[in-house]
Amino acid sequence: MVELITSAKEMLHQMQEWRASGRTTGFVPTMGALHEGHLSLVKRAKAENDVTIVSIFVNPTQFNDASDLEKYPRTLKKDLTLLAECGNVIAFAPDVSDVYPDGMQIARRFELGQLETGMEGAQRPGHFQGVVQVVKRLLDLVPATRLYMGQKDFQQFTIIRYMLSQWQLPVSLIICPIVREENGLAMSSRNERLSPGARKKAGIIYQVLTSLKKNAAASQWQNALLIHQQMFQENGVDLEYLEIVDAESLMPPDPIKGCRCAVACVAVQIEGVRLIDNIVLWGNLP
Ligand code: AMP
Repeated sequence: MVELITSAKEMLHQMQEWRASGRTTGFVPTMGALHEGHLSLVKRAKAENDVTIVSIFVNPTQFNDASDLEKYPRTLKKDLTLLAECGNVIAFAPDVSDVYPDGMQIARRFELGQLETGMEGAQRPGHFQGVVQVVKRLLDLVPATRLYMGQKDFQQFTIIRYMLSQWQLPVSLIICPIVREENGLAMSSRNERLSPGARKKAGIIYQVLTSLKKNAAASQWQNALLIHQQMFQENGVDLEYLEIVDAESLMPPDPIKGCRCAVACVAVQIEGVRLIDNIVLWGNLP
């Protein structure tokens, strides 16, 4: 069964009641167009909490490209059916005016330093300021015990983890593994925009990542990186970036200080659709 709440005031009121009665709450923020990747977060939240809340909100402030925002799929009815199949879930689908009653301008930039300058931050200026803004606002309305996010958006959860610690927000962040299609393509709402041929071709992303994992030993990752960057060109895929970063700093692994956990992150465009993915090369995600 799924209960739909659209009013921010009602959502907060419900949260206060659950908290007062000592119930634990798990919160899964999404932009809708739900797939098995999202549902894996929902199932985990359900297993670990008394109440599970899934927000469905396409956040305008994290899109730096108006046509990307416009094209983003909105499938509320289907999403509610999928959530109902998971069992008891609260769906929170507010309007933009409810999330941003004072307007969408970002009053004060949140200092993210180097965490937002590379990879997605470089390709999508302002994106992470919008992400921080919406997650903070959603956590004001849904002050949950646990917050569930996917490893799929690696830079995003790294930034949210930093934000939670900087503001000392009393919520535990739980990172869930990437759910993939049969050919290894990471599930994404954007995959729907690919033709069947392109969807098949996109399997190359995971093939390159797994090959890189096999070949990028801590001592000689630079060489392996170059070779694997070329693999995309060789297969006619438009590569935006393939980088290896330290999971804490998001900078290249430091040869002197070492790096406890390294992650390879990639963004490509296929048929004009941006696809991102990542893989842990060594160590454990912090
Ligand atoms: P989105 O709706 O794309 O903003 O995603 C909502 C949440 O689902 C984010 O925390 C994503 O990282 C997570 N997510 C999206 N795709 C996947 C996937 N294939 N596997 C696991 N988590 C995912």
